[in-house]
Amino acid sequence: MIDQLIRCKRRSIGLTITRDAKLIVRAPIWMSDYEINRLIAQKQSWITRKKQFFLKRPAAQKRQFTDGEVFLFLGEKYSLRFVDDLPRAVVLDGELKVSSLAAKNAKDHIKIWYQNQAFEYVSQKTKEFAEVLKVSYKSLRINDAKTRWGSCGSSGNLNITWRLIMAPQRVVDYVIIHELCHLKQMNHSAKFWLEVASACPDFKKDEQWLKENGHLLTL
Ligand SMILES: [Zn+2]
Repeated sequence: MIDQLIRCKRRSIGLTITRDAKLIVRAPIWMSDYEINRLIAQKQSWITRKKQFFLKRPAAQKRQFTDGEVFLFLGEKYSLRFVDDLPRAVVLDGELKVSSLAAKNAKDHIKIWYQNQAFEYVSQKTKEFAEVLKVSYKSLRINDAKTRWGSCGSSGNLNITWRLIMAPQRVVDYVIIHELCHLKQMNHSAKFWLEVASACPDFKKDEQWLKENGHLLTL
């Protein structure tokens, strides 16, 4: 039942369920197998629930970059269409149009397009929300993080991953607000969540959305 047991310097047992529904157990060096199994048995319902969550959610499909394939942008679905004459490599116009000339490197072109869109949208929104929240930030960087949607350094440097631009607008806005609120509270304390809730009352729904769908925000 334990997929991986890691013995390490720690005082208590730690359980992780991975994205592929494997149970990883970290346990103190001195703890007996009997004790480990006893503690795991106590957590069985949590383990089952977590495993079910990962097993049931729809898997991200492998991209083929073929005509008609669906891509997400601000939560909307767009079909990929290769078109002969386009003014740019990628144009969003009811469909995600990619120039036939760029077809060979479609992935690279679409990634650049996403990054540009993310930069435009996120920098505009960050400015707006910073005013509302009365905070000032030093810089905003659109990075390439795969699972960390955003981060905020104590010196006021914000990072948001370009992949987030595939999520619905309210989810993107929530992540921006979340990071900006860290300029007031550099932690995840109750005070911090109150700040978030003041600007984004439904933030729990957005957190949930990212938990359930975050793995689909890939290229
Ligand atoms: Zn945070």
